[in-house]
Amino acid sequence: MFCSMIRIRFQGRGGQGAKTAARILGTAAFLEGFTAQDSPLYGAERRGAPVSAFVRLARGPIFERGLIAHPDLVLVADETLLAHQAARVLEGVKDETPVFINSSRPAQELKAEGACPGRFITLDVTGLALARLGKRGVLSAALGAVAARLVGLKEAGVRSAVEQELREVGLSASTIEQNLTLALECFRLVSAAPLTESVPAEAPPTPLWTPQYEAPGRGSARITAPANAPLHETGDWRTFRPVLDPEKCNGCWLCFAYCPDGAIRMDRQDKPVFDYDHCKGCLLCVEECPTHALIVERETAGPRRKETA
Ligand code: SF4
Ligand code: SF4
Repeated sequence: MFCSMIRIRFQGRGGQGAKTAARILGTAAFLEGFTAQDSPLYGAERRGAPVSAFVRLARGPIFERGLIAHPDLVLVADETLLAHQAARVLEGVKDETPVFINSSRPAQELKAEGACPGRFITLDVTGLALARLGKRGVLSAALGAVAARLVGLKEAGVRSAVEQELREVGLSASTIEQNLTLALECFRLVSAAPLTESVPAEAPPTPLWTPQYEAPGRGSARITAPANAPLHETGDWRTFRPVLDPEKCNGCWLCFAYCPDGAIRMDRQDKPVFDYDHCKGCLLCVEECPTHALIVERETAGPRRKETA
């Protein structure tokens, strides 16, 4: 457990529940008598894009605000984020900082691959969610519970926090119960981590800046170069990918029609070909395929396959 204040950063993808996980952690700590502050950062992106959420827990008032650049604990909702340049999940991490990663692979293996700082801890939260709930994707309760365990909070507070926060987002009683069971299983599978409280350097005083008026033609957002959307490779937002079983495909083109990102083209045999550089892994194509010809494969941190039929 910590002495004065600790800073926790959740790194996830839009839709995985990093924001709610942060709220669950904050509420669990609050119920144990700590001061808690949590805030999410979405950026301008959508489902699958990297997002962060920040939690500060303290024994007294918290005067610090904003992003956490020097975390005492990091939770990564998906191992694929480690290789994501823009997500910068290990920014500010020191050798002794615990870094929890949702992965089926051993911590040493992931650490050896990246030669990066931090004390890695792994647990296959997605695998457990698939086995227990039959669902992939939203991991908020489990991640919140893991974080609570790592900082040394008690199970009773986690139980109440999961129930309270999931009720607030409008989930049914049975869904909350399923998530709670998964969360408590994850809570018991990890151990409290020794935390080193960082003391951020005093920021130099910044002079106040008076904004200048800009005419709307100059001050509003504009597209300055045409047809450059393909340069943004959204394929690394994916945590699961669609894969074709050609034997079951009847060539109906429905997957092509439903893909919101134009990431499917049809070949001469009327079979879909996936552009994995841009497929975000929304899996709408899988949902809509009438013959169940599309199966779902989990992504790992290794190299991604390019276009494939
Ligand atoms: S999962 Fe399917 S529908 Fe979604 S972006 Fe990828 S190819 Fe398109
Ligand atoms: S929706 Fe399914 S059956 Fe139809 S073309 Fe796509 S993969 Fe084949």
